[in-house]
Amino acid sequence: MINTYQHLDLHGMPLKHKGTALPAGKAVCVGRNYLDHIHELGNQISERPVLFMKPATAFAHMHQPVSIPEGKGECHNELELAFLIGEPLFKAERSECAQAIAGIGLAFDLTLRDLQNELKAGGLPWELAKSFDGSCPISGFMPLEYQEQYFTFSLKVNGQLRQSGDSRLMLNPVLDLLSHMSHSFTLMPGDVVLTGTPKGVAPLKVNDLIDIELHEHFSIKTQVAR
Ligand code: ZN
Repeated sequence: MINTYQHLDLHGMPLKHKGTALPAGKAVCVGRNYLDHIHELGNQISERPVLFMKPATAFAHMHQPVSIPEGKGECHNELELAFLIGEPLFKAERSECAQAIAGIGLAFDLTLRDLQNELKAGGLPWELAKSFDGSCPISGFMPLEYQEQYFTFSLKVNGQLRQSGDSRLMLNPVLDLLSHMSHSFTLMPGDVVLTGTPKGVAPLKVNDLIDIELHEHFSIKTQVAR
């Protein structure tokens, strides 16, 4: 649980005494937004974006050890681009959405995969698998003027490249996604939008060394703990 997001310098380190002015809100997330990841899990391409949410209690600081639940089966990494919302978005057009983006960072959409598979098979909602306490470790945010520029990012686990992402490959690009989300869930200042994971999801283990990078902007080293 966190109160405000960290403000990052260009090395991904929190600026001392300078959090963002925004309170930690909810995370609105999309599943199945990269084709390679849809294929790796054997899912179908969805006609509409698959949306779900994480409450404020899901946030944790990425700099601290990433904590995974015990005794609940596999907990998978899903590294995703995260956008911090600075202005309310209610049934918003793309241009409004671009103006409302206050920052960019990286987040894990931690997923209890065994449990999610069980829930999916039963036609049940995913919250237990994706919205638990600490299920959204975040980097903090760099200020961003969003002009549809693209971003690439990566995850290394114990020195091995596991995920590589490129925002140009999103099935629902950022502004379309925000606009679509805002027609069901008003986005408030302090909310965060997670934009889906590329392929490379796999179980995290206690003591794994984690290295995340938003290319040309920042990188963060952290570790998995219980
Ligand atoms: Zn995800």
